[in-house]
Amino acid sequence: ETVVEIDRVTKRYGSLVAVNDVSIPIRDGEFMTILGPSGAGKTTLLHMIAGFERPTEGEIYIDDRPVSDEPPNERNIGLVFQSLALFPHMTVKENIAFPLKMRREDPEDIDGQINEVLELVQLPVDYKNKPVGDLSGGQQQRVAFARAIVYEPTLLLLDEPLSSLDKKLREEMRSELTRIHAETDLTIVHVTHNQTEALSMADRIAVINGGALEQLAPAKEIYAQP
Ligand code: ADP
Ligand code: ADP
Repeated sequence: ETVVEIDRVTKRYGSLVAVNDVSIPIRDGEFMTILGPSGAGKTTLLHMIAGFERPTEGEIYIDDRPVSDEPPNERNIGLVFQSLALFPHMTVKENIAFPLKMRREDPEDIDGQINEVLELVQLPVDYKNKPVGDLSGGQQQRVAFARAIVYEPTLLLLDEPLSSLDKKLREEMRSELTRIHAETDLTIVHVTHNQTEALSMADRIAVINGGALEQLAPAKEIYAQP
């Protein structure tokens, strides 16, 4: 079953074609990685799925709804970008609760949901009241994932989420993401220029270059290409 349908989408900035007639169907529960060099159009594609940008041509469907006229906050999407955009002076709990409070959920439910999500990302429950700024890089990364998934989004978008980490931590977080995906069945659209990262996590890989889709295949069938 297809959750997100990118249907012949083109994005132009003036005369520059950032995304050129791209079609990608993304299946329920799939870990889809969009792989390509810098400037390929990956972030533009992700921003159109999130609703920060609008396609010039074509349409994106989420759960069969055309979403071009839907603002980002109606799309039920979780986001983790390279800049984690956490609030360092606020506690772990306050950071994770932020999207829940925006949705005006009951405070008692929030506590239960936060405990569950902390367990999922394997942060100790007693970290709840620590300021995020006191945590290590890897722990902050886990908080960012927790905040993105706490309200059970239809879709999780990851834009180079591990690129600010050092090599060892990056490898650790790759297997953590794979584990979280396996435990939740979340549909994930992940963007990276890093082939190793793509091959180690994705179910399928969409290779884009110069705005165009060059390959779309299961990760184990994708060889070579930077
Ligand atoms: P990637 O994420 O693969 O590095 P981007 O999607 O950021 O690529 O960019 C694709 C192309 O579109 C690049 O040539 C970039 O300079 C251009 N671009 C992206 N955003 C804008 C914008 N807001 N205005 C003009 N050009 C843009
Ligand atoms: P990049 O991953 O390319 O660094 P940025 O995080 O700088 O992307 O964001 C690029 C654009 O996306 C900005 O113009 C901003 O308006 C929009 N954007 C990013 N994050 C959000 C967000 N959480 N809510 C709304 N718009 C956002």
